[in-house]
Amino acid sequence: MSFLSVRGLIIRSVLYKESDRIISILTMDRGIVSARAPGAGKSANRFSYSTQPMMLCDFVLAKTRDYYYLREVEMIEAFQAVQEDIEKLTASAHLLEIASDVCVDTESSRTVYPLLLHALYALCRKDKNYRLIVSVFEWKIPDLLGFSADMGVCSCGEPNALQYGAFSYSHCRLFCRKSTCLEKAGSYQLLSPGCIEALVYACTSPLEKIFAFSVTPKILDEMTRVSRKYLCERLEKSYSRMDLLLDMPTWPASEAPQNSIE
Ligand SMILES: [Zn+2]
Repeated sequence: MSFLSVRGLIIRSVLYKESDRIISILTMDRGIVSARAPGAGKSANRFSYSTQPMMLCDFVLAKTRDYYYLREVEMIEAFQAVQEDIEKLTASAHLLEIASDVCVDTESSRTVYPLLLHALYALCRKDKNYRLIVSVFEWKIPDLLGFSADMGVCSCGEPNALQYGAFSYSHCRLFCRKSTCLEKAGSYQLLSPGCIEALVYACTSPLEKIFAFSVTPKILDEMTRVSRKYLCERLEKSYSRMDLLLDMPTWPASEAPQNSIE
């Protein structure tokens, strides 16, 4: 029997044979490591809390034949502020789902793991809009995987594409708004200068600062639309988890439902 000590983030956790859990741990250097956590499916078990999704832990795994078994776990971060907010919790589940899909080898895991951790820490902050974090994450993922969008000048040479451009999903690049260029753009979305600036920033900023900006609600709507569509098209998958939040009722503070009994 050999042992593996590894730090990682649990991106999936499923019940197995009534009382166990199978956890998928995203790591920096070993890709996704799967391990069986004996007894973790029971609420009173010492592993039950630390084997939930989104737990960042130091794990000690024992390898028997071809399987890893959880032996020890030390919690590093539970991202409590995310766990307590339904919108941020849904956003984090969306990010974990994407990470789970794209981390297919050690190389992709090595680039996505730091981005995911920065995103979860950013979600914990009160001053951060979860929709902005999701959008930046969605836009950055294709870039990390080698599907970078070309946000440079239009192929006609018109530099104003950077000011008022159209992002072409068909060609994964920016076009200017001249009719002759838009005719070649295929499926596209018109973008405001602020949205283009934000998207360029998301791809050029160091990870430590990638979420360190804010935008107007209108620009955020644009960003959300273009980043989700671009991600879904590049990964050929329809990610719909965030749509759950569109149907949630929102009340102005003064009209919020009261818990009082008449
Ligand atoms: Zn052009």
